[in-house]
Amino acid sequence: LAKDKGRSNTQIYNGRLSKMMSRKFVIEQGLRKAVDKREFSLLYQPIVHVQTKKIVGFEALIRWNYPVLGELLPLEFIPAAEETGEIISIGEWVLRQAIADCKSWQRGRSPIYVTVNISARQVEQPELIQRINGILAEKGLAQEYLKLEITEGAAMTNIDRLLPQFRKLQDAGVDIALDDFGTGYSSLNYLKIFPIKTLKIDRSFVKDIHKDPKQEAIIKTMAALAENLQLDLIAEGVEQEQQIAFLKEIGCYKMQGYYFQKPVPADEVRMLLRDN
Ligand code: C2E
Ligand code: MG
Ligand code: MG
Ligand code: MG
Repeated sequence: LAKDKGRSNTQIYNGRLSKMMSRKFVIEQGLRKAVDKREFSLLYQPIVHVQTKKIVGFEALIRWNYPVLGELLPLEFIPAAEETGEIISIGEWVLRQAIADCKSWQRGRSPIYVTVNISARQVEQPELIQRINGILAEKGLAQEYLKLEITEGAAMTNIDRLLPQFRKLQDAGVDIALDDFGTGYSSLNYLKIFPIKTLKIDRSFVKDIHKDPKQEAIIKTMAALAENLQLDLIAEGVEQEQQIAFLKEIGCYKMQGYYFQKPVPADEVRMLLRDN
């Protein structure tokens, strides 16, 4: 009986495994054609300054409408795109679209920047800076309106190869933010030499404010670190008023999260900017 059970468990397991493998395979196949087939789109989530109550910028977040599997979130397909190398052409599409959209937002009173998530593989490309400068020139957007975000994990894992590239980006006037800060493993020494302008506190830290005093202590320490290193600070995943109050108390005024706005399509951005 035990043997039978064992065997059937193995069968179930293999069934699931091959299903997962085929999903991954289907994703990898689809990724190769997705840019040409215009299956990607960008959503934008505002970054709000809570004292002026103004939107200062928008983060571009990719979505893939893949007819075979439906709407896919980046966490499912970006890792695959990084593995296959497809991230290079996808990333270039994201930059073009985000820069063009950002250009169209500059009609109001205050300047609005766009921030684009970027993978280590993109940054490693020697021609990245030239490409970015080319797109900015073509669309007529100044460097200071574009910012790049790289996750702390990706930045620190590849630091030797990425550091020279980031220095060039900084020299070109494109600011860099360290995304999901607190989830990677930055040595403080790297933070000092890495040419970043901004720390984005990962949403996992914001989530447990008011539930866990230790978590509060950690965020406070992050805010102090940002202040001492003269870095801009943005809190991600802000959903509740209590979180806002605490973040203000510790000197974090720029926030992003469902409390303010879920990510929206480009045509809704103009509406959000109407009274900005
Ligand atoms: P991220 O850069 O940390 O982006 C924030 C994620 O948190 C987004 O998920 C956003 O929709 C979600 N979010 C924002 N506010 C809240 C909130 O209040 N509560 C909760 N629960 N979630 C919130 P999304 O769009 O699924 O993106 C996931 C990750 O995929 C991003 O994390 C980023 O690392 C990556 N990604 C997105 N777009 C791109 C891209 O164009 N290129 C690359 N390389 N990576 C991208
Ligand atoms: Mg990000
Ligand atoms: Mg993040
Ligand atoms: Mg994240």
